[in-house]
Amino acid sequence: MLSASELTSGLKSLGLTDQYAIAHASLKAFGPIEGGADALLDALLESTRGFIMPAFTYKTMLNPETGPPNNGITYGAQTDLNKMAEPFHPDMPVDPMMGTLPEVLRKRSGAKRSSHPIQSFTGIGLDAILNTQTLYNPLGLIGNLAEEDGWILLLGVDHAVNTSIHYAERLAGRMQFVRWALLPDRVVECPGFPGDSEGFNAITPDIQNITRRFELGGALVQAIQLKGLIEAVVRKIREKPFALLCERPDCERCNAVRWS
Ligand SMILES: [Zn+2]
Repeated sequence: MLSASELTSGLKSLGLTDQYAIAHASLKAFGPIEGGADALLDALLESTRGFIMPAFTYKTMLNPETGPPNNGITYGAQTDLNKMAEPFHPDMPVDPMMGTLPEVLRKRSGAKRSSHPIQSFTGIGLDAILNTQTLYNPLGLIGNLAEEDGWILLLGVDHAVNTSIHYAERLAGRMQFVRWALLPDRVVECPGFPGDSEGFNAITPDIQNITRRFELGGALVQAIQLKGLIEAVVRKIREKPFALLCERPDCERCNAVRWS
């Protein structure tokens, strides 16, 4: 059992108490934690200047009958899911696929959530950054976080959930997708939807010198300097346009990038 103080002293050893961060976490990876999700959030708040997490809501998404070509989607294929789609509202729970931590963070006093109907973020101490998110550039706030010398925290998870790589892909000129989300009064087009992230661990050797890593409980904890990661991803994709794509033959979004 990991105690709350072991968690805090462990995360503080990253040396990021004066830095902002974007965090991705698997609570389970740590094994039993005294105080659970709240203890991990407290430890994160004590060991950073403030942090955000993705608070995505995929159940707002609709799949139309038709749309733009080569969009990494089979149109009209999910009519049952369309029937279950729910309109976005600010208190909509974070998709369980994002893990339990962002939902606990979202409900914390002092937490703010941005208002993108699919790709909202939630956090404490970073309201100004969260306010810069737009419908047209959902991940632009990650660029603003990089300008503030922000860091990425991967807590018991790997680069396959590292949203910042998506921001860098777009900077490198990689194609983006269009998706659609339900609002209470209409359907809204959401451009700038990113590709598939399954192949993202291929960035690991390129960022060794800007990654701090150690084990805490059962979890591998990694902190990566955001600006350096963005530069490494842009460099890699400009050298090899198909870098960081996955190998799944039926992956619609990776294949769309190859065909673009
Ligand atoms: Zn893929």
